[in-house]
Amino acid sequence: MRDKYCGFVNIEDVGKEVLLAGWVYRRRDHGGLVFVDLRDITGVVQIVFSPDISKQAHKMAGDIKQEYVIQIKGRVEKRPEGTENPNISTGMVEVLVKELVILNISKTLPFQLDEDEPNETVKLKYRYLDMRRPSIQEIFITRSKVYKAVRDYLVSHGFYEFETPMLTKSTPEGARDFIVPSRLNPGTFYALPQSPQLFKQILMIAGFDRYFQIVRCFRDEDLRADRQPEFTQIDMEMSFVDVEDVINISEGLIKEIYKTIKGETLKDAFPRMTYEDAINTYGTDKPDLRFGLPILDITNIFKKTDFGVIKKAIENKGIVKSIVLKGKNLSRKDLDASVDVAKQIGAEGLIWIRKEGETLQSPVVKYLKEEEKLALIERLEVKDSDVIFIMTGNRQKVNELMGRFRLYLGERYNLIDRNQFKFLWVTDFPLFEYSEEQKRYVASHHPFTASKTDIRQFNGDYESLKSKAYDLVLNGVEIGGGSIRIYRKDEQMEMFRLLKIEEEEAQEKFGFLLEALEMGAPPHGGIAFGFDRILMMLLDQDSIRDVIPFPKTQKGVCLLTDAPSRVTQKQLNELRIRVIHEKQ
Ligand code: ASP
Repeated sequence: MRDKYCGFVNIEDVGKEVLLAGWVYRRRDHGGLVFVDLRDITGVVQIVFSPDISKQAHKMAGDIKQEYVIQIKGRVEKRPEGTENPNISTGMVEVLVKELVILNISKTLPFQLDEDEPNETVKLKYRYLDMRRPSIQEIFITRSKVYKAVRDYLVSHGFYEFETPMLTKSTPEGARDFIVPSRLNPGTFYALPQSPQLFKQILMIAGFDRYFQIVRCFRDEDLRADRQPEFTQIDMEMSFVDVEDVINISEGLIKEIYKTIKGETLKDAFPRMTYEDAINTYGTDKPDLRFGLPILDITNIFKKTDFGVIKKAIENKGIVKSIVLKGKNLSRKDLDASVDVAKQIGAEGLIWIRKEGETLQSPVVKYLKEEEKLALIERLEVKDSDVIFIMTGNRQKVNELMGRFRLYLGERYNLIDRNQFKFLWVTDFPLFEYSEEQKRYVASHHPFTASKTDIRQFNGDYESLKSKAYDLVLNGVEIGGGSIRIYRKDEQMEMFRLLKIEEEEAQEKFGFLLEALEMGAPPHGGIAFGFDRILMMLLDQDSIRDVIPFPKTQKGVCLLTDAPSRVTQKQLNELRIRVIHEKQ
């Protein structure tokens, strides 16, 4: 139906005849001539209907409207001088139409493609129209290129691609499962995979050495801007490896993705930080390194203080932490606002101390000893018009709140360079964390994660154990995570015992893995990256919805198809399911 794509017509085609097909993007009538921007997936070319070239085509051109689908035959000409558009690849030429075929008509669209974005509901209901917009097409063309880059990189590094079941058993990523009733086994249910974790481990036990999959995962969680109930992971697993090997291969992969999207090579190795350092210095396990503002421990300065709040906190084994905001000359209003923000994020209070000339200014300065003031100035290298922000109290809480307050300061005082991409490996996560909800220790990553030390010699202190888990963080967002796994049955059983998972329950849930671990399981480990999240960030989009072809709304609804929806009584009967409708 065509012998060339619209976007590929250029100066070399001048004088030639071309057959094109596409959509009417824009249409203008100009003194007897009709101009149309004809669009296909490759771009836009200007076509011209003139009565001097074809009376019939020119007459028909009077009927065509935006988004009509047409086919034309015409001759490529140089554009008259002064009418060129150097911003597009077809901008030096136009096509004079000899023949026009209207392949399909179009109703007036619910929104104009070349105008501002429609609202989210309209956009998702008419996703196919939204996707016609060149800027949106660009996103999905890039997404497609990234799939290929990932496959090329991993295959060339000895990985084999697999598909693992979608109808499966509950997996241990810690979110709620989506479940699917089984008609053939009434009363039983499959779970959609939260990740292929156990299958990829089984593939290592099967001897495949290196596995990968670009795979859909399902987690029934409350949705936020960067969450979707179904999302895509680049999932990997490798045999006979330790932390270093997984990190190295993964870093190469991420650099390959970066190059595919940004066209630039990242040369430097990604920095690393232990979990402990990340928490102590940035108050979070996903620090945003696009700006400084480290959180410093100044408890020592106040060992002998008379200042009530701090004295009490230290007596209760608390800590004192500070952030210094340099040279921003904050007004009293700014300072009061920062106290309000600290309270909003849950702090009991925030102390600020401003340096003015040689003195420190603050409502609390009268409670400080001379030597404490001097120590603050010296240790924190405070200069004129710098502000010290201080919080005190329980270690974990202060770290967390200071972490959030640091992000506020970064945003509020424009300290974040939005053009930067700061990757960071965070390692040495704790093996266990205490779950307030379940009132017991749970696995920080998942229960198949290996410990750095032999858990069979566990001394009773859950919080002392570190795991061989690692996360990759980009600009303060976790974009991937994984671990070296337990590969011996006795160690895995010990792990379940420490997690207070009964043997019976372990057998029922993971019996197949436990049995496989007894038949020559190799040491192995892996990682999974959030494909959508990486694309969102590298393509500067606000939400992962923008990089997913058919995303769901905040309430998990697909506006295009109206899923989820009711099913027929016959279907329910076959599944032996009775739906209890809430009383109106
Ligand atoms: N399965 C894990 C996850 O999805 C990643 C991994 O441990 O490889 O978070």
